[in-house]
Amino acid sequence: MKKRHLIKLGARLAGNTLAEVLRKAGGPPLHRPKRIYLETSVRCNLKCLHCGKWQAKTAPRQLSVEEWSRVITGAREWLGPYYLSFRSAEPFMDAGIFRLIKTAADLGVVTRCTSNGTLINEEMARKIADSGLSSLSISIDSLRPEIHDAGRGSPGTLKRAVRGILALRRLKTGPKIYINTIVTSENLAELGEIVSWARELGLAGNLFQALQPLGSSWRRLWPEDAGAVDRALAELREAKKNGAAIVNHRAHFDAMAAYYRGTAAPGFRGTCSRLFSVSVDVAGEVTLCPEMPSIGNVRGSGLRELWESAAAAAVKRRIPGCRANCFVNTCNTEPSMGERLGSYFILFAGKL
Ligand code: SF4
Ligand code: SF4
Repeated sequence: MKKRHLIKLGARLAGNTLAEVLRKAGGPPLHRPKRIYLETSVRCNLKCLHCGKWQAKTAPRQLSVEEWSRVITGAREWLGPYYLSFRSAEPFMDAGIFRLIKTAADLGVVTRCTSNGTLINEEMARKIADSGLSSLSISIDSLRPEIHDAGRGSPGTLKRAVRGILALRRLKTGPKIYINTIVTSENLAELGEIVSWARELGLAGNLFQALQPLGSSWRRLWPEDAGAVDRALAELREAKKNGAAIVNHRAHFDAMAAYYRGTAAPGFRGTCSRLFSVSVDVAGEVTLCPEMPSIGNVRGSGLRELWESAAAAAVKRRIPGCRANCFVNTCNTEPSMGERLGSYFILFAGKL
């Protein structure tokens, strides 16, 4: 990504923060989305315990690569450089993903993918690097195959994901690599170890996520021992304080601890990040919050039109008042400006 695009994006993030300050002071929501999430595919080669995608009975009518390209370029004309996250099931199962990443990257859009990493061999690593992808998060829930593979529903997944990470590292070009870890009953004792491991490999950082109540087997991974969750998260806070490149901020960990206890998060101020993002699912349906109604479909309208519609305005009015402590864990958090900038810095610069 060119420096001028990065500066423009930074200016817009600052503008959005100012718009949010004005909104809190009683004004209307003035901002534009700073993140766009696209679910370009629901196909996956794994059967994770915490995921419902592979259990879906019907296949939605997916948008074509051309339709996705129109969404990406239309958003660029509207927003200038923006942050685009591909939330596809396993993005590298679909050859079309490389064309979409390249379309976005050529327009100066910051692109991010999350992958289970198991399909990345030398050839795939080269394709990823050539696509211009800015950052790639690879899911590693445990460094112990018996834990990671059991959660991911297939033997050999840890070994293949690590092979993928090493193939990308050998190239010395390509996206910044992050490790995504879902906090479960099985890995509480080794979260700090995963952070150290990522650092030793020279990766850009770690992101921890709450377990989503999806599919039929997520309860098997739910940590019942709230004290153990608190201790594990305290260890991560300490690691971050000591310089570890952990993307989550302190308030995010506070909300996550409350989420696992089933209580309201402390310090609620109603600034869920979903007020600043828009998601398009595999069939083109557009939402701000996954728990709230669709605001339309990109097959019939442009993203900007939908963002400025009455349906979107209704959802934007509801989000600030939302009291849910959902898996997103951001509605109830209010990071300081320093923490917010620190997280952006880890994401965009790839290191502390
Ligand atoms: S969590 Fe990701 S890797 Fe696992 S089955 Fe779902 S889409 Fe596939
Ligand atoms: S916290 Fe509320 S507004 Fe935010 S994603 Fe969850 S349900 Fe939606």
